[in-house]
Amino acid sequence: MQDLLRGQKALVTGASSGIGAATARALAEAGADVLVNYHSDQDGAEATAAAIREQGRQALVFKANVADEDQVGAMFQAMFDTFGRIDILVSNAGMQKDVAFARMSLKDWSLVLDVNLTGAFLCAREATRAFLRQGIDPSVSRAAGKIIFMSSVHEIIPWAGRVNYAASKGGMNMLMESIAQEVAHHRIRVNSIAPGAIKTDINRQAWEEEGAQRELLKLIPYGRVGEPEDVARVVAWLVSDQADYMTGATVPVDGGMLLYPGFREGG
Ligand code: BGC
Repeated sequence: MQDLLRGQKALVTGASSGIGAATARALAEAGADVLVNYHSDQDGAEATAAAIREQGRQALVFKANVADEDQVGAMFQAMFDTFGRIDILVSNAGMQKDVAFARMSLKDWSLVLDVNLTGAFLCAREATRAFLRQGIDPSVSRAAGKIIFMSSVHEIIPWAGRVNYAASKGGMNMLMESIAQEVAHHRIRVNSIAPGAIKTDINRQAWEEEGAQRELLKLIPYGRVGEPEDVARVVAWLVSDQADYMTGATVPVDGGMLLYPGFREGG
């Protein structure tokens, strides 16, 4: 993995913890310099940056709300001022606000859609503008740029009590595929990762307590809850030239959660 991304410049949103933090570290391990975006956890973002610097790579910590157009613009400007270019965007920042549908307020809905879907749109648009401006530098990569959206198995699996979250991820699938179709001829690659249950803060209640984890494991044929690094390694490969012919794809990293586990014995 060491040299897969040598000389490349990456921006990872939501990189202060969980999958985003592990991804930022994995990209650095593969040779990239990284802008570490965060929203509220500055200490977490600084820890990610410290790990990146330990790899001998550069890190820039930048606070921005991905749902805010001006803040996203300022973040990309900082990227260009510091690193001169962008080769990789990992649009990872996301959140849940779980509420039964009949009780879901417009605020509950909008907050999750704004961060998960509008945030992905704003960041991908800025990255695409930069990729088009920069063009291809064959000494860096065969592609003009790469975008990864951190989606979810819930872009496919409906999820009671979380229609805001599931709708944001379903929308992300069409966002990803439509951008991919539009920019492929510019050699910009756009793909999604669909993580299943990964041990992070977002789903702590589902894996921390033993009984809860036992229930969760019934949904995971591979028999373990994922680690952030399980996802991060796939991202590092997918943005490398090893995957140069992949665009418009969603790669599940879910221990088989999408395999309808109930049908192993049922049906
Ligand atoms: C959600 C987690 C959940 C996982 C599997 C993710 O997208 O954020 O809370 O554990 O999907 O259901």
